[in-house]
Amino acid sequence: MTITNPTANAVPKPARVVDLAAKQIVENHLNKLAAPQDLSLNRHEFEQKKAQIIELLRANHATLIAHYYTDPAIQAIAEASGGIVSDSLEMARFGRDSDSAVLLVAGVRFMGESAKILSPDKTVLMPTLDATCSLDLGCPAEAFSAFCDAHPERTVVVYANTSAAVKARADWVVTSSIAVELIDHLDSQGEKIIWAPDQHLGRYIQRQVGADMLLWDGACIVHEEFRARSLASIKALYPDAAVLVHPESPLEMIEMADAVGSTSQLIAAAQRLPHDTLIIATDRGIFYKMQQAAPHKTFIEAPTRGEGATCRSCAHCPWMAMNDLDQIITTLQQIGTPQAAQHEIIVAPDLIAQAKKPLDRMLAFGASLKR
Ligand code: SF4
Repeated sequence: MTITNPTANAVPKPARVVDLAAKQIVENHLNKLAAPQDLSLNRHEFEQKKAQIIELLRANHATLIAHYYTDPAIQAIAEASGGIVSDSLEMARFGRDSDSAVLLVAGVRFMGESAKILSPDKTVLMPTLDATCSLDLGCPAEAFSAFCDAHPERTVVVYANTSAAVKARADWVVTSSIAVELIDHLDSQGEKIIWAPDQHLGRYIQRQVGADMLLWDGACIVHEEFRARSLASIKALYPDAAVLVHPESPLEMIEMADAVGSTSQLIAAAQRLPHDTLIIATDRGIFYKMQQAAPHKTFIEAPTRGEGATCRSCAHCPWMAMNDLDQIITTLQQIGTPQAAQHEIIVAPDLIAQAKKPLDRMLAFGASLKR
């Protein structure tokens, strides 16, 4: 279920701006954005690499699982090869349930770790182990553990975007797709919460539920850059467009949203909403699946800080961008050689056992919501 913003209608609409020059700049921007997603531009090279990757996956009994924010070419190959494109939890769950002995995770490091936690007997590889996340980096296990120790009366809930060591310290791990429901459930049991690491998501949940939450001070460097003023400029140019916002964005963005939700929920909202034009405040990698879900709609990147309607948005995660087709080919070619070690996710068995508990708890809670 997408979380619909109850205050969206209360926000005054920005004055309509008829600025054709600005509109043209936005059109040019959109055309530029379309370019890297148009596989036909390099169709021959893409098809060659796709065939090579699919053959290497088959030969190594491997499955490619990719995140929504990776390059569209990677997402297309993950789907064509029988893998999956999804959020971090679904990626890990899909990997666990696959017959493959090797999981190749295109995403960032905590996603590789989550896959390893759910599939400890499988080999989990990543194109580069340098691909990390500002939320993970901003929540070091030792400091976080000391913070939790200082508030022993509180239930510790951490977002999926954390290291295995931070997950191991938590009572619950949660994704943004069920975070509101879980905190609501815990609040109804009278529990006080420590929430980490994303302060914006935490503040959003706190406002939805009214729970007693102590927030860790982390942020996603991509979503934190979205600004309401810049959004208002583009909304003025496209007054009939709906605004879809990921809750890692600042509250001022959420207040202008027609729909707020996790990656999967935003894709569902893009399909469900009646609007032909949608302004999207999350990483632009998601456009690949949104275009699949709603092929006749127009998608516009929400502008980032300070650049208004003439923006060149930087809404793309630099660490997700470290995954590319050549790295994937190299990683697969190195399986069975000593070089494979530089791609392998290793999590200590005792940490896996600890981190699996709050993950399993979340999976059970998520399943109970579907019943
Ligand atoms: S988009 Fe943000 S939350 Fe996602 S991996 Fe990149 S830095 Fe982390």
